[in-house]
Amino acid sequence: MINIVLFGKPGAGKGTQAEFLKKKYNLTHLSTGDIFRFNIKNETELGKLAKTYMDKGDLVPDEVTIQMLQSEVDKNPQSEGFLFDGFPRTLSQAEALDNFLESKKEKITATVALEANDEILVQRLLERGKTSGRPDDQDEEKIRNRYQEYNEKTAPLMDYYKAQNKFHAVDGIGTIEEITDRLSTVIDSL
Ligand code: AMP
Repeated sequence: MINIVLFGKPGAGKGTQAEFLKKKYNLTHLSTGDIFRFNIKNETELGKLAKTYMDKGDLVPDEVTIQMLQSEVDKNPQSEGFLFDGFPRTLSQAEALDNFLESKKEKITATVALEANDEILVQRLLERGKTSGRPDDQDEEKIRNRYQEYNEKTAPLMDYYKAQNKFHAVDGIGTIEEITDRLSTVIDSL
């Protein structure tokens, strides 16, 4: 089983790349952002709760997010591996994921980060907001808050994975194909 964490700031292209990688490596793609949005659309209790945080660009509390992620993993017992997109985003989530996988005699194989400059990404998100319909993509202040959340809570995870020798970074600027190639080079070397 290979389990990959796709890491990167909002707008770095995680979702786009995940679409290619999941097919290429036969992975189950779990995007916590997509799962929350699905719940919001279906007006579930989880969706209502998540929306209050997401609309502001804040992270949804760890307890809720971890529980949701674990139940999604458990829904896919036949999976040949997972591609985690947008999870973990805090140290507690990373530790919970490690413990959870260990309880299944599995582990994270590697973390691959898509790197890009903040200003390019903010412009990309504002552009995406014109068509995505996502409230958190349409307001520069909310976008900046998502970056602040990233810098404070998610960036420290790089050291967490570096300490385990599981951190890889690729340049996230280029064509979709170029970036898929860069990510594939890392995954093929694992
Ligand atoms: P994304 O689609 O990955 O950009 O996520 C959109 C929003 O969903 C984030 O700004 C958070 O509010 C929420 N979210 C997604 N994944 C997580 C996570 N792992 N932990 C906490 N909040 C999350």
